[in-house]
Amino acid sequence: MASKYQSGKPALLKKMNRRLILELVFKHKEISRSALAKKTGLALPSVMRLVDELISQKVLVDIGKGDSSGGRKPNLISLNKEFKYLIGVEIAVKTTIILTDMLGQIIDSWASEELPDSTPDQILFQVKDQVLSLLEKHAIEESQVGGIGIGTPGTNFKYVKDIPYSILKGWENMDVKAWFENQMDFRVHVDNVARTRTLAELWFGHGKNYDDFIYVFVDQGVGCGIVHENTIYEGFNGVAGEFGHHVIDYNGRSCYCGSRGCLEMYVSAGSIIKLFQAEGTMATSYTEILESDVSYKKALLSQVGHILGVGVSNLINIHNPKAIILGGIVATSDDVFNGAIESVGKNVFSNYSSNTPVLRGSVEVEGIGSIALVIHHLLENLDLLV
Ligand SMILES: [Zn+2]
Repeated sequence: MASKYQSGKPALLKKMNRRLILELVFKHKEISRSALAKKTGLALPSVMRLVDELISQKVLVDIGKGDSSGGRKPNLISLNKEFKYLIGVEIAVKTTIILTDMLGQIIDSWASEELPDSTPDQILFQVKDQVLSLLEKHAIEESQVGGIGIGTPGTNFKYVKDIPYSILKGWENMDVKAWFENQMDFRVHVDNVARTRTLAELWFGHGKNYDDFIYVFVDQGVGCGIVHENTIYEGFNGVAGEFGHHVIDYNGRSCYCGSRGCLEMYVSAGSIIKLFQAEGTMATSYTEILESDVSYKKALLSQVGHILGVGVSNLINIHNPKAIILGGIVATSDDVFNGAIESVGKNVFSNYSSNTPVLRGSVEVEGIGSIALVIHHLLENLDLLV
């Protein structure tokens, strides 16, 4: 294994090692040089050289002595939270913007009203104005911003001919990245919300314990992020993870994608609202349904959980992940969550897979996934910023 790297390109090797070190420092928050050497398998002098360089570039900081089980206490290092400020935007039924430091700690935030009839252009101009006013309020120069991450309802709409939902309408022709790059000087990163929320788990949540998991986002839309060896699998054309459009009933309900029986037609927040309305409830939002006390609430939500569990079992059967994480507003219901777990227990194929833990999302904060998207790119391309 060593020979493969020894004859390689030193600059690339250095970049890879630095990336490895930064990722570990980020996930552990505070760590010693010797622990970094141990975890990366790199020689201690190499780690010390790289860390010293990162400290001189103000990316890392020495934070003093840590605990030790006898002997000399190690010097700990951490990311410099003031190295860059980060902006995370999440566009869903409402729009949320968060401003954070380099550690992803929220400094300030802004959220719009629920405006389902806004056009993409109106939403994007509003985001631009609010981002600029947040920076002005905190006296942050544009050069101090490490990037802006944007989670959108989806990025694959060009394959869909007719989109009846107002939350998605108009976005099919919108190049959000190009729009922002045209308007601002920041580095802009865009992905769909299912993927940005997956990155949030990877950087801030269950990713500390799992390097191989599938995050299932069940919200207004339904999608997933497939993580293998700490990396999101994107697929040949970059559209992997369209979990909401896998068919669970080929004679089932018509979907806006043109198919019938897509999972999203049974478990998205909008589908659940319709289900309840058919029973006579007047609720027009998922939150209202959760707060209502109609007699059939538990039975209907458990049924949704069971259908979701069938879909999740398909994921487990195909991918055999170490864990499934259920996130998004729909999964916040205990009835849905427990129904899904019960259904997974019944529907997965092998005894090994039936032990796959199904966990709740641990970082369900709007916008934080978009911050994770920026961090992901920032640590990858640090040379451009120091
Ligand atoms: Zn569909």
